[in-house]
Amino acid sequence: MTKFVVVMGGVISGVGKGITTASLGKIIKEYGYKTTLIKVDPYINYDAGTLRPTEHGEVWVTDDGGEIDQDLGNYERFMNQDMPKKNNMTTGQVYKSVIDRERQGGYLGATVQFIPHIPQEIVRRIKLAAEGYDVAIIEIGGTVGDSENIPFLFAAKMLEQELGQESVAYVLVTYLPIPANVQEMKTKPTQQAIKMLREEGIFPDFIVCRAEKEVDDVRKKKIAASSFVRTEHIFSAPDVASIYLVPEHLEQEKFGQKLLARLHLAPRQQPDWTVWNDLVNKMVKPKSTISVAIVGKYVSLGDYTIADSYLSIDQALKHAGAALDVGVAVTWLDAQRFEQDPSRLQELEEYDGVLVPGGFGASGIEGKIAAINYVRTHNIPYLGICYGLQLACVEYARSVCGLRAAHTTEVDQNTPHPIIDVLFAQKQVLAEHRYGGSMRLGAYPAILMKNSTVESLYQQTGRLTEDESKVAQYAREHSLTFSADDEVILERHRHRYEVNPAYVDQLQEKGLIFSGYYQRPDGTRLMEFIELPGHPYFVATQAHPEFKSRLGNPSPLFFGFVRACKERAE
Ligand code: GLN
Repeated sequence: MTKFVVVMGGVISGVGKGITTASLGKIIKEYGYKTTLIKVDPYINYDAGTLRPTEHGEVWVTDDGGEIDQDLGNYERFMNQDMPKKNNMTTGQVYKSVIDRERQGGYLGATVQFIPHIPQEIVRRIKLAAEGYDVAIIEIGGTVGDSENIPFLFAAKMLEQELGQESVAYVLVTYLPIPANVQEMKTKPTQQAIKMLREEGIFPDFIVCRAEKEVDDVRKKKIAASSFVRTEHIFSAPDVASIYLVPEHLEQEKFGQKLLARLHLAPRQQPDWTVWNDLVNKMVKPKSTISVAIVGKYVSLGDYTIADSYLSIDQALKHAGAALDVGVAVTWLDAQRFEQDPSRLQELEEYDGVLVPGGFGASGIEGKIAAINYVRTHNIPYLGICYGLQLACVEYARSVCGLRAAHTTEVDQNTPHPIIDVLFAQKQVLAEHRYGGSMRLGAYPAILMKNSTVESLYQQTGRLTEDESKVAQYAREHSLTFSADDEVILERHRHRYEVNPAYVDQLQEKGLIFSGYYQRPDGTRLMEFIELPGHPYFVATQAHPEFKSRLGNPSPLFFGFVRACKERAE
């Protein structure tokens, strides 16, 4: 039977619940238990697909095409485990299921009510995601005291009532401020958060104290006295140099063993943190550092926002850096700077590599194309992600194939050379305004070209082998067949436009290599990778490989890019 851990946040949002949840998941997994992580988002949006990335951080995409909050990304990065979209639920989804069921007569005429029907649906979803796992950790978004949290806390109590206290544990992640004028760490907001939880019938078993500094024994005792939580169940979680240091920090206070004991479980194996710690060390104290420019769009909105909009790319660069023992310093460059003043393109010489990430719409497009042209002709390593592949193709068509007016129809509907276009089937969907259904979302298999740079990178990083069984499963589910010597990998997607199949030959004749494609059931080949021979590193993909990068299991194209940057730096 599955055991459940419920993680809640107190005092402020953004306190680090997600990282705590991911770290606890990693720890419990290390003790030999099959563990999964579930994120509850109390907002009414059905999913994160329509949320503004500048406000909410980047949208995370799952293998099965879910558009989800970034927390699931942290879960996958820490756990090195794919998480499907059922591992996330929003208030919107919960209500929609209940209302749909009512419309279909599923409640047999009963009055459908907030209590018990909404928490019942929440419990049903939790159990569905937890099926087949020994331990499921559920993170409840928002802060204790928010009214939108109530049905989820109620659901946790329902679960506890059904399964018994030894099967459900509660963790409160809280914040201890140090006001500048008193210079003393304050426990009062935490005491109040605990009191609010009690009003919902929940007595936390563990308290994780987030703070700028370590929480001392005096304060731990103070919290213990007012909350009836044992002092040894109160953990200090100060700011650390890397999020990946958090599991180790929690383990120093034996959180894993204490949590297992609370759930009446004994360790199945002793964790071995050597590989993990070695990688984290390389990340925190690298021998040398490369500098990478990310030429993007959200840059003018302030540093904080930008980093969040491209969080997974930043993480993927760091994972590759850890594997290659090199630090990666990222500079966010607004593509528009190159439109206003093309002489600034020379600034790109200062970097060891340039990356153009995914994006939508017309803003900064010519700047990105100019940057791609510069790095292509100046032998600066380049990695293009999604829009970064599409614009590299446009640039190549314009500068090398002589198709001066080449463009993507996303920006210029009337271009005489629609190098990047919406395919016919998608056009129909768009014409009917079904925007939600018009994206290519989730994992798609790509057949790699033998002896290409891309193939060799998937080989070297072990991903070809790792994806074998996943590809076999995908093929079964989609009634596809691959021939025995096809080398197939899976990457996640989130885009509407494709390289126009009508232009592939022309680009290829002029030297651009398409090193992998996805074959649609109707036989159309969609180009997934490009590369340029003779260039130190010029590789781009239609996919979003950053979604499958994990610490200890870097993404092949990021690995190749960082290695090329390192060579340039040396
Ligand atoms: N705007 C492009 C498309 O929709 C690229 C999307 C992306 O980069 N994720 O195809």
